[in-house]
Amino acid sequence: MTPKSPPERLLSRLRVVLCRPSHPGNIGAAARAMKTMGLADLALVAPRRFPDAEADARATGAVDLLQTARIVETLDAALADCLFAVALSARPRDLGPPLRTPREGAAELLAAAEAGPVALVFGNETAGLSNAEMMRCQAAVSIPANPAFSSLNLGAAVQILCYECRLAAFAGAPPPKAAPLASPLATAEENAGLLHHLEAVMTATGFYNPAQPGRLLPKLRRLFNRARLEKEEINILRGMLAATEKPTGHGRRG
Ligand code: SAH
Repeated sequence: MTPKSPPERLLSRLRVVLCRPSHPGNIGAAARAMKTMGLADLALVAPRRFPDAEADARATGAVDLLQTARIVETLDAALADCLFAVALSARPRDLGPPLRTPREGAAELLAAAEAGPVALVFGNETAGLSNAEMMRCQAAVSIPANPAFSSLNLGAAVQILCYECRLAAFAGAPPPKAAPLASPLATAEENAGLLHHLEAVMTATGFYNPAQPGRLLPKLRRLFNRARLEKEEINILRGMLAATEKPTGHGRRG
């Protein structure tokens, strides 16, 4: 048995991703919420105003997290190296990722963090997460709230999840359904590579018509998210796809 990573190390592998935040004050509040719970990795997807004095003011002693925050254009870029991502939404979605409680979601994140970076993904203050953004994640979490008024302030939602993650990290409880992996989990970027490869082959064979996409691609993404593919499995599937592209070849595409 390999020894468990210390809780602090696991917490340092948790990334908080804020998608298109409108209010810099909420970015500061999120940084403060993270630092109080021992998290440090903040990624901002296309923030409307950042850096900003209001963000610094609300962060108080956590301005260092704002200074090291990564600013990216897309959620894909924020999640590229992640092994597992949890979407935060007050509203359950049709065809969305499987729904968890904050406690279950935190336990799953911590279990996946044993192997590498993982993420908590939050939406815009007004619009929340788009369906496409939700589909980039392998699980969804709703914070149980008053059904008549279930939308928390962004910073408050970040605080609750970071707190649950800290409890889970220090409790050291065995993760639910943790099975030994044959090979490490694939990253979001590797999963996206498989989906693109499959799309190209399906288009070339006529199985998929990009002019009439329907819901085929989101459904396949959902299938792969549910499967939590390992690196080796991605290589096998991509090897099969490459073989259909080049029937006599034995090589694999990278
Ligand atoms: N009006 C938006 C809510 C935005 S609140 C909507 O209906 O989706 C900003 C973000 O905080 C949300 O995108 C989500 O990530 C998080 N959040 C707020 N309340 C939440 C809840 N009850 N459960 C889970 N996440 C929540």
